[in-house]
Amino acid sequence: MSNKYVYLFEEGNASMKNLLGGKGANLAEMTTLGLPVPRGFTITTEACTRYYEDGKAITNDIVDEIYNTLAITEKAVGKTFGDPTNPFLISVRSGARASMPGMMDTILNLGLNDKVVEGLAKLTGNPRFAYDSYRRFIQMFSDVVMDVEKPKFEKILDEVKHEKGAKFDTDLSANDLKEIVLKYKAMYLKEKGSEFPQDPKEQLIEAIKAVFRSWDNPRAIFYRRMNDIPYDWGTAVNVQEMVYGNMGDDSGTGVAFTRNPSTGEKKLYGEFLMNAQGEDVVAGIRTPQTMDKMVEVNAAAFKLFNEIATKLENHYKDMQDLEFTIEKGKLFILQTRNGKRTAAAALKVAVDLVSEGMITKHEALLKVDPKQLDALLHPTFEPKALKKGKVIAKGLPASPGAATGKIYFNAADAIKAYADGELKVILVRLETSPEDIEGMNVSQGILTGRGGMTSHAAVVARGMGTCCIAGCSEITINEHEKYFLDKNGKKYCECDFISLDGSTGNVYGLTLPTEEATLTGEFATIMQWADEARVLKIRANADSPKDAAVARKFGAEGIGLCRTEHMFFETDRIFAFRQMIVATDETKRREALAKILPMQRQDFEGLFHEMKGFPVTIRLLDPPLHEFLPQEDADITKLSKEIGMTFDELKHFINDLHEINPMMGHRGCRLAVSYPEIAEMQTTAIIEAALNVGKEGNTVVPEIMIPLVCDIKELKFVKNIIVKTADKIIAESGVKLEYKVGTMIEIPRAALTADDIATEAEFFSFGTNDLTQMTYGLSRDDAGRILEDYYKNKIFEADPTARLDIVGVGRLIKIATDLGRKTRPDIKLGICGEHGGDPSSIEFCHNAGLSYVSCSPFRVPIARLAAAHAAVKGEGDVGQR
Ligand code: PEP
Ligand code: MG
Repeated sequence: MSNKYVYLFEEGNASMKNLLGGKGANLAEMTTLGLPVPRGFTITTEACTRYYEDGKAITNDIVDEIYNTLAITEKAVGKTFGDPTNPFLISVRSGARASMPGMMDTILNLGLNDKVVEGLAKLTGNPRFAYDSYRRFIQMFSDVVMDVEKPKFEKILDEVKHEKGAKFDTDLSANDLKEIVLKYKAMYLKEKGSEFPQDPKEQLIEAIKAVFRSWDNPRAIFYRRMNDIPYDWGTAVNVQEMVYGNMGDDSGTGVAFTRNPSTGEKKLYGEFLMNAQGEDVVAGIRTPQTMDKMVEVNAAAFKLFNEIATKLENHYKDMQDLEFTIEKGKLFILQTRNGKRTAAAALKVAVDLVSEGMITKHEALLKVDPKQLDALLHPTFEPKALKKGKVIAKGLPASPGAATGKIYFNAADAIKAYADGELKVILVRLETSPEDIEGMNVSQGILTGRGGMTSHAAVVARGMGTCCIAGCSEITINEHEKYFLDKNGKKYCECDFISLDGSTGNVYGLTLPTEEATLTGEFATIMQWADEARVLKIRANADSPKDAAVARKFGAEGIGLCRTEHMFFETDRIFAFRQMIVATDETKRREALAKILPMQRQDFEGLFHEMKGFPVTIRLLDPPLHEFLPQEDADITKLSKEIGMTFDELKHFINDLHEINPMMGHRGCRLAVSYPEIAEMQTTAIIEAALNVGKEGNTVVPEIMIPLVCDIKELKFVKNIIVKTADKIIAESGVKLEYKVGTMIEIPRAALTADDIATEAEFFSFGTNDLTQMTYGLSRDDAGRILEDYYKNKIFEADPTARLDIVGVGRLIKIATDLGRKTRPDIKLGICGEHGGDPSSIEFCHNAGLSYVSCSPFRVPIARLAAAHAAVKGEGDVGQR
């Protein structure tokens, strides 16, 4: 850490973002470029970190540095803090390394007090302006710094307006505003027990502390978690001379983008309001004018603004978002930053900047956030309607998209409604299980009360591309009586309408109109550039030919995981599968397996067919068997009749299968150890399918994957079954067929003994869902609820089930990678947990030297771009055109 905590704008530059924050660094850069920026200085992000280290206090050394820099600024400006004859008035604004719009606090007009306000009135000859500024300052300072809530002041303002018959704030006279100031101060005294602070230096230090504090407010914490911004970055604070847009009709303020942030069109886009301060534009009291009208108001300022906007865009080589103020005809730039934009605009701007010769293709790739692409792939709500919708609860944004429809509380009701012609079905469940799959399949959206980002509902919905909100503990679900209560206690019954935003986790208590996704030409261009840049291959997790087709459409280069258990969800298949589970001896089990075999073979043929020569990894059966059996008495009765058992026998059987902790129970390769005939049947289906599709002229090299291995002997045991079965079929066919046998690494012991494991495994696929669960000892189905307290107490900043924990789980992956390669240098390494679609996890996979990542089909484009980002960043090379 440096010992300098305060920088004048002229001492910094754009490369000092980490220290000065984005806003501070850009103010410094613009000052150096000679643009009309009001003077000021920045208190660094390191000062913020120290504030927290020092027990939420600004120590004397930093206070002294602030005062010294203030004195230099006063001299440069020719004004003095607290001097009624020539007062220096300032704004105090937050500015973190990454932009966090609206998340932290700002204080304007600081430096005003009872004496200065009078001086300002005299100096400007505009007492109305002076008292309006003072009342705004008292309100803002009290609210932001002293925790006296804004509505208390707004009530006073409304009362005086009412009394005076004033419609707008601008209808109030200087005397009215004086009266308001007195009332505001009285309110402050009543609330705080002391007079409103009159010493500007005290105001300044308190304001800086408040901005530091706002780094830690709940909305900032949430925003950081959503955007992967670390807590220890801290925020900088910018102190800047005030300029006024509310000094009369020759003054004004506005915000403009150098390109349209919704569409990316290259045209100045924005609005301004004359005789106003920034907050008036936001408050919408008067309607702002569009930028093209500015030429009529002040042609010279408009011309200058255009020149500056172009200069800044060329300088930063990106679309800029500028804030400006005109004070008595003179233009000032208060901020510039790379503008936030929609996904469609991001693509267009990136591609346009390349054709304009401003940036390279690699630089263009880095301008599109991979996560943003999601919005282009799924339907979304109409933005206007969404703004009006009231959020009735919030859960985890488990699978993106927008769903609106009637609610049903079990899969059977959802299926029935769909069969009766109801196309907009939303399934609301406490949690889902494989039994619900058909209901999930007919639903537009899925809402669960429990479960985390890798719970059954989340994983399956993402695979299907269906919108899903999981772990929504703010609602109380009564599945039995078919209703739920929202966070305010309002009741929603079967067939009531709700809407789900799977990208934010917001639940709305009404229908909202949706818009279909459209993929523009720029999307294909960016994807092509990404494919040229990336090293990692991208595969998809797909369980059916339909999913595989979607995956191919999005550019998947193979299947990294086919969860074979997902192939039994359909009604006609689940019966045979259940028959297999309840078989009391091997003969009966083999009878049931014989029925399943053709179904599996047909599916695998479909997968091989869709993937046309790309690799396909098929995993042997993994989940605990009891997940497939009914739990309700009525369903047990039905099944017992179908399979010729008594109710009691079947119920007894199901109870017997019940496990205390099924995630660590009889699942994965343990099933194949107990019932080798299941692995035999699945191998037969895979090999026969490969031979059949091979006959059509396609090269098929099936990769058979053994799940949940923890020991080499266990792997060897199951591999033997596979090899014996496969080799026999291949020999009988008389055709040559290559196949591979590999394993998932999802138990820490497997990672730690990966050198042994690699003697048998021809490939490793890291199942980071289970590997995370087992490494943390944290159930993936319960993590959502538990983690809330961990975020609150700053123990965790991110959800390790969604974003790979590089420190612990990542270390296990590194160990396994190194050990695996030691035994088998050409071992193929991939990842197929949900992290395979998460950009920061993909960057880790690239750096760890894995061969591929595999993710749900809808995440494939995101993964392609994220892999390109990792490659470009890794090379430190952004020069390729
Ligand atoms: C995993 O554990 O990461 C994995 C892909 O397997 P599943 O989610 O099916 O347990
Ligand atoms: Mg797993």
